[in-house]
Amino acid sequence: MKNRIFNFSAGPCTLPLSALEKAQKDFVDYQGAGMSIIEMSHRGKHYDKVHFEAIANIRELLSVPEDFDIMFIQGGATLQFAMVPMNFLGAGKVGEYVNTGAWAKKAIADGKKIGETKVIWSGEDKNFTVMPKPLDIKFSADAAFVHMCSNETIGGIECHDFPDTGSVPLIADMSSHIMSRPIDFSKIDMAYGGVQKNLGPAGMAVVIMKKSLVEKANENLPAYLSYKIHASKDSLYNTPSVFVIYIMKLTTDWVKEIGGLKAVENLAISRSGLVYEAIDNSGGWYSCPVDKNSRSRMNVVWRLPSEDLEKKFIAEALDAGFSGLKGHRSVGGCRASMYNAMPLEGAKKLAEFMVRFKQANA
Ligand code: PMP
Repeated sequence: MKNRIFNFSAGPCTLPLSALEKAQKDFVDYQGAGMSIIEMSHRGKHYDKVHFEAIANIRELLSVPEDFDIMFIQGGATLQFAMVPMNFLGAGKVGEYVNTGAWAKKAIADGKKIGETKVIWSGEDKNFTVMPKPLDIKFSADAAFVHMCSNETIGGIECHDFPDTGSVPLIADMSSHIMSRPIDFSKIDMAYGGVQKNLGPAGMAVVIMKKSLVEKANENLPAYLSYKIHASKDSLYNTPSVFVIYIMKLTTDWVKEIGGLKAVENLAISRSGLVYEAIDNSGGWYSCPVDKNSRSRMNVVWRLPSEDLEKKFIAEALDAGFSGLKGHRSVGGCRASMYNAMPLEGAKKLAEFMVRFKQANA
């Protein structure tokens, strides 16, 4: 495809071209069935295979232990901000939250509406440019859970070292870095993420939860809000997001084809390394506000000397074939979101463009 540009959007975002092409090829007549995958029953043999292969791919790629359930739940990661407290914050229980920035704050706000919450660490005084060190997170032994966002998509910070919360369940919103690195399931009891970054189209979350935690979930909830129901019905209690799961299956097939989690992790390190290098080698002309040890491999954020130059940079970058580089409207600046499907070439070309732009404008 000649006119495919480098898309640095934060999500929805670039997806593997081979997965898109496969979906296109199979779209109207799915494997000779005489109808599309989105037209057929979600209880039939074709969809059944897609559904369970998508789950199996995730289990295999992330080495999800057998004592964890993998669930597909609509409503994106946002619904998880409510479902977590609905399921685990009964009377007398306190949910303990780590406040790392914009997405953590949204989870905290929803938690507060549902039960008792406590913020046990906050990066606010550092303008959310740093992740806590594991031992900075002082949780209570009787907390219902500790919740953290392990990659802040807007702030561009990523947790590279998770705390060990012992018998207190650790719940992580991994929306913007799930499937880009291994997950230590000896520490994490629930990992969830909206799927529209590394996995597929928007509109759903993947929830990976320890079975012993599912056991503790509230039973008196409307069906769709109940983890117990989703887990016990293999995410087929109601009609699932057929199309999203189909693309997820193709996307995870692609991850397997290119060498699995290690391959995508190495790519993430190389891509982000190239852009950070362009920032660090600019003599301060480009500046990344993030603490070096908390830099995200997925969302690289930086500033230019003025907002006018930032506007010019973003406009000229678009003309040069790089889209989606505008920072989130709440913080400004520039951001390159480089998820699994962003080719290394995209990061290389962007870094070269940054050098040229500085030479022309400094
Ligand atoms: N958490 C994080 C870290 C995110 O980046 C996002 C979306 N960008 C969300 C939660 C919300 O996800 P959704 O839009 O799928 O509800």
